[in-house]
Amino acid sequence: MDKEYAIEDRFGRRFPYLRLSVTDVCNFRCTYCLPDGHKKTREDSFLTLQEIRRLAEAFAGMGTWKIRLTGGEPTVRKDFSDIARVVSSIPGIRKVAFTTNGYKLPERAKEYYDAGLRAINVSIDSLDPRKFHEITGHNRLEEVVDGVQCALDAGFDKVKINAVLLKGLNDGELGGFLDFIANRPVSLRFIELMQTGDNLAYFRKYHIPATVIRKKLEQRGWQELEREEGAGPAVEYAHPDYQGRIGIIAPYSKDFCKTCNRLRVSAWGDLHLCLFGAGGHSLRHLMQEDGQKEELQETVMRLMQIKKSTHFLQTGDTGVRTNLASIGG
Ligand code: SAM
Ligand code: SF4
Repeated sequence: MDKEYAIEDRFGRRFPYLRLSVTDVCNFRCTYCLPDGHKKTREDSFLTLQEIRRLAEAFAGMGTWKIRLTGGEPTVRKDFSDIARVVSSIPGIRKVAFTTNGYKLPERAKEYYDAGLRAINVSIDSLDPRKFHEITGHNRLEEVVDGVQCALDAGFDKVKINAVLLKGLNDGELGGFLDFIANRPVSLRFIELMQTGDNLAYFRKYHIPATVIRKKLEQRGWQELEREEGAGPAVEYAHPDYQGRIGIIAPYSKDFCKTCNRLRVSAWGDLHLCLFGAGGHSLRHLMQEDGQKEELQETVMRLMQIKKSTHFLQTGDTGVRTNLASIGG
């Protein structure tokens, strides 16, 4: 029987949501993330299926009910569906989501659903095949868009599309994106480009504040929805003529960190208290035997006391984050 834990920090925020990176390897080369493709940064291996199970069980015992599998590209792991199956069958875990670049999604969507995944975020930064190719290094827009439909057909409860806002590259595509969601029950999230240790010049060239899109949406009659209890930092919009919704993720906005409800664990088992904080805190040595669960939980609860109230991105401080593939956005 678990002790009564609930992950909470000194600022009264609760953390029912874990983002778990299962690899930092990626097969795409997004210009803002891994422009030269994946390069090995560490010699140690990624968490094994059993380590992941113990970690997820410990978090479930501390009130975590949602887990997102991310990366790198999580689906490059051969045992990705096994991970999903194991994590989604843990008592207390009510929703397992994943974020993917959509690689081979048409042929794999059903397998992922059958493994217990219920929410999917697919990254599509442009609906123009040429620009998609330019941004990701892959001429696969058609496959990825097809994958979104296959995810809907497979029965996923939530299908979201992530688009990073890029000045001069996709900021003129709002009309096309809106057409895309007119008759699809998907949520399109516009994410403001974040500065990382590796992308400063890129950031200076392509960053646009999310307020630009918010204004355009409001001019077109999109209405901001009331924030649901426990919702994360995205601001949601709806429009009566559209089946889909829009979410805006603006990490540079004043109150972004107030609604933080997630913790992150890297593919090597390091707990990151903030996407842009200092280094991670290794938990891997506490995932070696089932009997270590309580010790792992106590360590997490202790570390929560040093979680800071905000990130310091506004001042250009990206912490240790060289790119988001190293932890999952
Ligand atoms: N490979 C998967 C994918 O691309 O969906 C999952 C990992 S990726 C790091 C997660 C999300 O972070 C993607 O939607 C990606 O577009 C976003 N992302 C990566 N680098 C970013 C940056 N510098 N600023 C904002 N979003 C970023
Ligand atoms: Fe890979 Fe995702 Fe980074 Fe693109 S954003 S390079 S798909 S990890």
